[in-house]
Amino acid sequence: MIPLSRHTLSLLLLLGSLWGLSSCNSKEPTSTATEPPVSDTVSQSVESPDSDWVRLIPPIDCTLGEDCFTMLYVDRDPSSGEIDFGCGRQTYDGHKGTDFAISDEAIMEEGVAVLAAADGTVLRLRDGESDRRLTTAEDIAEVEEAGKECGNGMVIDHGDGWETQYCHLKQGSVAVEAGQQVQQGDVLGEVGLSGKTTFPHVHITVRNRGEVVDPFVGVSEETGCNVTRRPLWEDALEYEPTGILRAGFSSEQITLDRLWDGDYKDASLSGDIPLIFFWVHGYGLLEGDVEHFRLLDPQGNVITDYEQTAESSQKTWANGVGKRDTADRPILSGTWRGEYRLIRDGEVIAELDREIEVR
Ligand SMILES: [Zn+2]
Repeated sequence: MIPLSRHTLSLLLLLGSLWGLSSCNSKEPTSTATEPPVSDTVSQSVESPDSDWVRLIPPIDCTLGEDCFTMLYVDRDPSSGEIDFGCGRQTYDGHKGTDFAISDEAIMEEGVAVLAAADGTVLRLRDGESDRRLTTAEDIAEVEEAGKECGNGMVIDHGDGWETQYCHLKQGSVAVEAGQQVQQGDVLGEVGLSGKTTFPHVHITVRNRGEVVDPFVGVSEETGCNVTRRPLWEDALEYEPTGILRAGFSSEQITLDRLWDGDYKDASLSGDIPLIFFWVHGYGLLEGDVEHFRLLDPQGNVITDYEQTAESSQKTWANGVGKRDTADRPILSGTWRGEYRLIRDGEVIAELDREIEVR
């Protein structure tokens, strides 16, 4: 029994030091108002938009749900609360647009195009703001005081009072000029980290005659969620308030900063690592969600089988489990396997498996 208890002890230590991680969330302002009701299915009725409304495509060149994610929505609570159109919490107070995120900055460096959501004319633009994740309240205040929350971006006029605004583009990537005509799908620049942002994404605000329009709802007098929707998207976009950005293995404990940097992408690990760690980085965790991790060694033995119930909701979070290398229970060479299930109200809402070679 001694080897087992030693093993369990090392695992608990590892998990213990990770409690703080799952409380890491995006640094957007959070509300102290009463928590809204939450659902992850959208039950309200959907109708066709008016024929003279602008029709949009997602403003990013990627496959939603695979290599990019609809992470934050328009805040539909006119008070100090926050609620998205699906009655979830993937927004923040006063958020006027939709955020399409990519998994990390390494992908951002490679270049992900920002696309014109519809035909139009570029009204105005900004470039030259640096790309940096804002990590402190001081950083955020500085950007707000300068009035440069949008960072690098542009506004496009689509006629009939319709405009779209694109924010947080990569410094030096803006590829259009003021007055230029663009077609839907034309490249405007690249996804970046300029302005008030804590993760690489493009933010799009839609306006009709100066009023913010939630593209998932269309022009509507109604606020809040569970309203009749007439979405502006040409092809229906799924409401996915919870998802996994990235998952993998590392030979050390993870940090959120390095996950956003794009680290921990080793295709294999060397045999002399001090620990093997299976991690998941996601968005839209809700209080009460259960995370179930299993880590299996190359012989198929379950080394770790661990469940954790979320104590609070998080817009983004990371979590994981691992096994330390010990004299009596070394990390075996071969293919290790990690299995992850995210369970809400008894139903699996996200699942993935990952494998890595330890040489
Ligand atoms: Zn945004």
